[in-house]
Amino acid sequence: MLNTAASRFPQESDYRIRCLNFVDAALGEVRLALVMKPLNFRIVPLPSEVAEAARRMAATGAPDHVFVTADSPLAFPCRHCLHWAAPGERVVLFPYAAIPPGYPYSETGPIFVHAKACQRYKATNEYPSEFRSGRVFRAYTSDHRIIEAKVANGTTPEVVIENLFGNPETAFVHARSVTHGCYTFAIERT
Ligand SMILES: [Zn+2]
Repeated sequence: MLNTAASRFPQESDYRIRCLNFVDAALGEVRLALVMKPLNFRIVPLPSEVAEAARRMAATGAPDHVFVTADSPLAFPCRHCLHWAAPGERVVLFPYAAIPPGYPYSETGPIFVHAKACQRYKATNEYPSEFRSGRVFRAYTSDHRIIEAKVANGTTPEVVIENLFGNPETAFVHARSVTHGCYTFAIERT
């Protein structure tokens, strides 16, 4: 019964079983979790109202909202659409309170959004592909205190984020630039 032509070709079910035989149990568990389980968190890009207000402020000549022209491909991330601005594209540079006032960890820092209207990142159940490297992930409690920070050094960001949410005290996570510390996007539990 195994001598038919079809049986000589690997079947999808065989592949899955073989894969699991080749990886250690822990890694297999992680891979299975990523393949089979929907993410238990969602990506939260900058609200459209914030991006639109920043564009309006820059247009009025506000000193803390300025237009900048991107001059390199991976240096001007738009926090609204979660794409890098291409060289030659204009962005608005302005201060954003990623942690609002009133907490010990309150923090305002510089961010960019595209100067022209762009579509807010919609695939909130998928990690944004353009930010798989160069990010640090900070876990915060519900009272906005940092409890842990991890860089995804060779680990997929989804695994790092899932581990941070494994701590029941983690209320939300920030993805930030690992070099500049600038806020990129938030991640919340689903
Ligand atoms: Zn954008």
